Amino acid sequence: MPLVRYRKVVILGYRSVGKTSLAHQFVDGEFLECYDPTVESTYNKMLMVGKDEFHLQLVDTAGQDEYTILPPSFSIGIHGYLLVYSVTSLRSFQVVKTLHNRLYESRGKTRMPVVLVGNKADLSLESREVKTDEGKKLADTWGAVFLESSAKENQMTRGIFTKIIEEIDRVDNSYGTE
Ligand code: GDP
Repeated sequence: MPLVRYRKVVILGYRSVGKTSLAHQFVDGEFLECYDPTVESTYNKMLMVGKDEFHLQLVDTAGQDEYTILPPSFSIGIHGYLLVYSVTSLRSFQVVKTLHNRLYESRGKTRMPVVLVGNKADLSLESREVKTDEGKKLADTWGAVFLESSAKENQMTRGIFTKIIEEIDRVDNSYGTE
């Protein structure tokens, strides 16, 4: 019998970057055009990574900006983070930088498993404001993984969630991972 492991992951980022759409695409396999700002919701999904089965609990948040005070529930008992910006919004890219710094401070500057996600890659040609290279460089400075995705075209959506599970195992997390 394979061991089922529990992982709790928070999705953070500026409003309207596609946090809910990514979670919804991954969990329910569909994309909704409408924009309904999330208060906060939790999704549960089982997934296999390699030979292991994981129970992933995803916390989809209301969205943050530079001034948001992050509650302790975003650092205590959290195994990993998806920091999401939109490739069409420079502001959202600035916001993930601030969020990363805040989290890093609040977690006592221990290394944290992070996947930096540049979403809305399908709009790349018309309205890109953040180059792929800039996202990659930022993730490198954090020692994090970087991926571009499209919740709309279901591009890299599963990959994001698989990666964060792999990162949690890779990073020596002071809260333990089991
Ligand atoms: P959240 O506030 O970060 O949770 O953002 P939502 O998931 O609610 O998405 C905000 C808006 O962007 C909605 O109108 C979505 O339909 C749209 N959206 C989300 N992801 C994508 C994407 O990958 N591509 C495109 N073109 N639109 C997206």
